[in-house]
Amino acid sequence: MTLLDSTAEALPLGGPDLPQRRRLVTDLPGPRSAALLARKADAVPAGVGHTVPVAAVAAGGGVVVDADGNSLIDLGSGIAVTTVGNAHPTVAAAVATQAAQFTHTCFMISPYESYIAVAEALNRLTPGDFAKKSALFNSGAEAVENAIKIARKHTGRQAVVAFDHGYHGRTNLTMALTAKSMPYKSGFGPFAPEVYRAPMSYPFRDGLCGPDAAARAISQLEKQIGADSLAAVIIEPIQGEGGFVVPADGFLPAIAQWCRANGVVFIADEVQTGFARTGHMFASEIFGIEPDLIATAKGIAGGLPLAAVTGRSDIMDASHAGGLGGTYGGNPIACAAALAAIDVFENDGVIERAQQIGALLTRRLTALQASDPRIGDVRGHGAMIAAEFVDPETKEPDAALTAAVAREAIAQGVIVLTCGTYGNVIRFLPPLSISDELLDEGLDIVQAALAVA
Ligand SMILES: *Cc1c(COP(=O)(O)O)cnc(C)c1O
Repeated sequence: MTLLDSTAEALPLGGPDLPQRRRLVTDLPGPRSAALLARKADAVPAGVGHTVPVAAVAAGGGVVVDADGNSLIDLGSGIAVTTVGNAHPTVAAAVATQAAQFTHTCFMISPYESYIAVAEALNRLTPGDFAKKSALFNSGAEAVENAIKIARKHTGRQAVVAFDHGYHGRTNLTMALTAKSMPYKSGFGPFAPEVYRAPMSYPFRDGLCGPDAAARAISQLEKQIGADSLAAVIIEPIQGEGGFVVPADGFLPAIAQWCRANGVVFIADEVQTGFARTGHMFASEIFGIEPDLIATAKGIAGGLPLAAVTGRSDIMDASHAGGLGGTYGGNPIACAAALAAIDVFENDGVIERAQQIGALLTRRLTALQASDPRIGDVRGHGAMIAAEFVDPETKEPDAALTAAVAREAIAQGVIVLTCGTYGNVIRFLPPLSISDELLDEGLDIVQAALAVA
């Protein structure tokens, strides 16, 4: 069957040549999006939700174009995925070339160079001047699951610690690792055993310095689990879904050092923070930590599904042959896309662009905070910046205000995402291919939405 009705005119191509503008030609959703969303409601379960009520037909630079010809400013990058820009020409060309050569052999049947080259690039780019290896998978959750498998096999221990506000995915083990019940876990148990939770450093809410927050967490895991039962500690260097929580200085190094001293594998979940997003290739660099294992996905391949576990060779080699893998893991088209995206990350000034975007976002949002005390906190690094909305008197989270601001911004054609355990954070994750003009316009719209909320 054809995908769009034959009366539709030719669809625009995506990529940076799309007109870079916000333009609404209908209310959202327009008639074509509304028809597609009605089909979605009939064909796709309600559990698969959506944030923006439009059907995308093209995207690139800093915009998403919908089926009715509306052009929306993209401040979400499909959840931190299209860091190099949507339909980036280098990525699109690499995908087309690989698709014409071969689409799949299964790396576990007959290996191919692009997988090996992605592993080599990850081993070189991730923090830590020690021998590393990488294994490739399809999704962030799958990478996290495999990092835990590897840590358990290496240590011969079973317990795993994750943190308050942490998010690690939607599979059974990663649901167990994830903190927030609604919507991620509620009704989906029982969850994987031997998963424990430790208190996070959340400076805006706990007021603790990094070493004190780390001592609190370490004391809890020593008393409640014991280091000799503990295989791994997994943490997002900057939490994503949990609210862009940036731990206080000294927190992550103290946890990593405790892990090293106790033979516990320290795993950084950089699925959201990795690949230039934070103004560094990896967020671990900001905090001066060298994780034993790093899980990556999202930004790795310019929009193609790919994920990886990278880490110390001795740990990565713990598994027997055949213990790691998967039919599609390291698919050749996804690997070709990743090699193209990594080339862009390394050679097109993307990290510097993330820092510029971070400076612009921080300047605009702190100025807004100075005039509107409902913004309790502005935080983040690079193109991963958030505003936390609160009751100005009590600092109580204001989820209703947050939802109202996001809804109004979206209605005006600006894609923004919310997050946070309390649902009171708007996160800004623009593609690094966005222009300053579009970013400023997007923030003008958010500011206007806040003014009427
Ligand atoms: C999105 C995310 C995951 C899960 O990745 P999927 O590709 O959705 O499975 C895991 N960890 C973090 C930090 C994430 O942001």
